[in-house]
Amino acid sequence: MNDTATIDWHNLGFHYTETDYIVRCSYHDGQWSAPRATRNKRIELHVAATCLQYGQQVFEGLKAFRGVDGKVRIFRMEENARRMQASAKGLCMEGVPTDLFCDAIVLALKKNLRYLPPYETGATLYFRPILLSTTPRISVGPGRAFEFIVIATPIGPYFPVGFLGTPFIINRHVDRAAPLGTGQFKVGGNYASSFRATEVAHAMGMSCVFLDAKHKRYIDECGAANFFGIKPLPKRDGELQRYAYVTPKSTSILPSITNDSLMTLAREQGLQVVRRHIPVEELSAFTECGACGTAAVIAPISRIIDPDNATTYEFGTTPGTISRQLYNALQDIQYGRTTDKHHWCTVL
Ligand SMILES: *Cc1c(COP(=O)(O)O)cnc(C)c1O
Repeated sequence: MNDTATIDWHNLGFHYTETDYIVRCSYHDGQWSAPRATRNKRIELHVAATCLQYGQQVFEGLKAFRGVDGKVRIFRMEENARRMQASAKGLCMEGVPTDLFCDAIVLALKKNLRYLPPYETGATLYFRPILLSTTPRISVGPGRAFEFIVIATPIGPYFPVGFLGTPFIINRHVDRAAPLGTGQFKVGGNYASSFRATEVAHAMGMSCVFLDAKHKRYIDECGAANFFGIKPLPKRDGELQRYAYVTPKSTSILPSITNDSLMTLAREQGLQVVRRHIPVEELSAFTECGACGTAAVIAPISRIIDPDNATTYEFGTTPGTISRQLYNALQDIQYGRTTDKHHWCTVL
């Protein structure tokens, strides 16, 4: 089990690579089964299962890192467990208890340990937990039986050629999620409903910025990530320039665990952290902007195009100092290069 898989770690990319095991738990008659590892990657579902008929499905995404000290760290998995419980509740599904969720992740790690990329590669082992409603029913309504499955797959560093900015474009013609809809839950359907917009952006070599669906005025999310901007604060004579970390407050965005972590680190670095509506025009006041999420930690934004107003907000292709500092601070914790004073990592 300890032999390393023969994988070209340096050319992994963000693709699915088959590993040895998936982990599964089932919920029937009010009870969860214990997690079991299986080599079979196919699941048998009744064709009328509510996940297939009515999209009753939620998911998660988290990573394990091989640290500088050789130890394995899983980042904030209890937070992912809690968020999946909130998502499940949002779709009238049975949530997976935190202990069971964490046991399943650790089992998926142990069973696929040879796919955990070595420290130097910058690659990680990504876990994709999914929760499906399996009850066969054609009448519209939630199911009562559920399947919880954890997939583990090694993924390459998000920035194989270095930490660089990417361009984004605003789309006012497609809504990702309604203000009181499912945007705050990690639901596969949110992605399906955003494909029309993301495909248009990708065809132009960019990623998509979604605005709030009601007013089309405030920044909601960028791609499948949260948004943040860095804004200089009014400066008084003789004082050092201070900055604010500004991130949207919205009922239709997913509460990113990366964003939550960055807000904590930003406060520690002396930034003012503000969570509020961000009107599109305010982009001109930001010196740096980024998209944040598990996949990239921070994907710096080089420019945001607002085609409906023929405006482009420029932030530069090289990431700003504050984005870089925050990115390094979080990665240092994930790779065990610094003290994890918030106890964010489960060390194995
Ligand atoms: C998963 C996700 C994020 C990022 O959340 P993290 O916990 O930081 O990985 C942001 N937005 C959307 C829509 C997501 O699905």
